[in-house]
Amino acid sequence: MLLTTQEASEIILAHAGHFGEEAVALESALGRVLREPLLADRDFPPFPRVTMDGIAIAFQAFTEGQSAFFIEEIQAAGAPQLQLSNPANALEVMTGAILPLGADTVIRYEDLNIVDGIAQVQIEDIRAGQNVHPRGSDRRAGQEITAAGRLIGAAEIGVAATVGKNALRVARLPRVLIVYTGDELVEVDAVPLPHQIRVSNAYTIQALLSPWGIRAGRLHIADDLARTKDALRDALQQYDVLLLSGGVSEGKYDYVPRALSELGVRQLFHKVAQRPGKPFWFGCVPEGAAVFALPGNPVSAFVGARRYFVPWLRQSLGLPPEAEEWAVLTEPFDFKPDLTYFLQVRLHSGPTGVRSAQPIAGKGSGDLANLADADAFLELPKGRDHFPAGEAFRVWRYR
Ligand code: AMP
Ligand code: MG
Repeated sequence: MLLTTQEASEIILAHAGHFGEEAVALESALGRVLREPLLADRDFPPFPRVTMDGIAIAFQAFTEGQSAFFIEEIQAAGAPQLQLSNPANALEVMTGAILPLGADTVIRYEDLNIVDGIAQVQIEDIRAGQNVHPRGSDRRAGQEITAAGRLIGAAEIGVAATVGKNALRVARLPRVLIVYTGDELVEVDAVPLPHQIRVSNAYTIQALLSPWGIRAGRLHIADDLARTKDALRDALQQYDVLLLSGGVSEGKYDYVPRALSELGVRQLFHKVAQRPGKPFWFGCVPEGAAVFALPGNPVSAFVGARRYFVPWLRQSLGLPPEAEEWAVLTEPFDFKPDLTYFLQVRLHSGPTGVRSAQPIAGKGSGDLANLADADAFLELPKGRDHFPAGEAFRVWRYR
């Protein structure tokens, strides 16, 4: 019995790695996983902050019926705190300024008429403390703003900057080597002979890893057992993860599983009940590298990297599993073999808020062009052969 996709991913997640922590500069922290909480280094905001351009007054004067205020001075943003010398007067204040001492309420220019240094309030409806962002009202000094364990996005970068962190502790990334096998493969800048093709998997997989900050190495191995073993022996010592493609099927020159086993990599499974990507081989060196050996067909390799490696990486970096996403099939789809099918789909959503998945019919697992037309794979479970329009299935998005 072949493993189901679910069983395969459980085995993989049970072998997540731990790569420790490191400090990175704030500018390089995007896409990394935060390993320290971000704490408020002082109150937020750190002073009573004026939120509108206008005048600051003592509200008491307004409640006593006063509506015209003599303007003493201007309190600009970035200037030290001024003081209202007379509670019946006002100071002009600018957004981002500290509220002057003696004032508690800000009236915006739009509600004033200022003539000869006297501000006449044009409206009745004024609330005590309006247009002031009180000190510490967002966070108190020492409080947590962002918890450890988050994926660092633009918002977290902003929080780190505001609390004065120009370096952050983040999860260290695994050292990843992308290995591609096949005597038919030539480099991207080569003009292939009729029986050759350009390598694409290595680049697709490298691109999938790049948003995580992983700069994976690349290595081409010929279809030869001794050379495969030599290359993998070294790679297993230098890397935390090997992501292989090709050479894992039943072909006469498919040496990868044998080479890995002979090098002491423990096979955890070979083959998953899915299409494309069935010959997927996964194993680990005890206390050492994890090895994802994917079939070479471009769609098979891609679906394997997206469906199994990315969740493994998230878990290894200490992130929670990605939020499940589901989409509704727009048209019926039939698939007879008793395998999970990864259907390439384009995702749509409309004003109803329902996400739908439109099948993009490809020519099989070698059809790389089709990947660029689709956005995601829809995981159609094994054990059934008809998938009606209107039913929702799990989505693995790559865009
Ligand atoms: P394999 O899994 O080695 O039997 O390869 C299956 C198919 O995928 C063959 O048609 C290969 O030429 C193709 N293939 C293997 N590796 C790559 C690669 N790195 N880039 C593009 N195509 C590949
Ligand atoms: Mg091959």
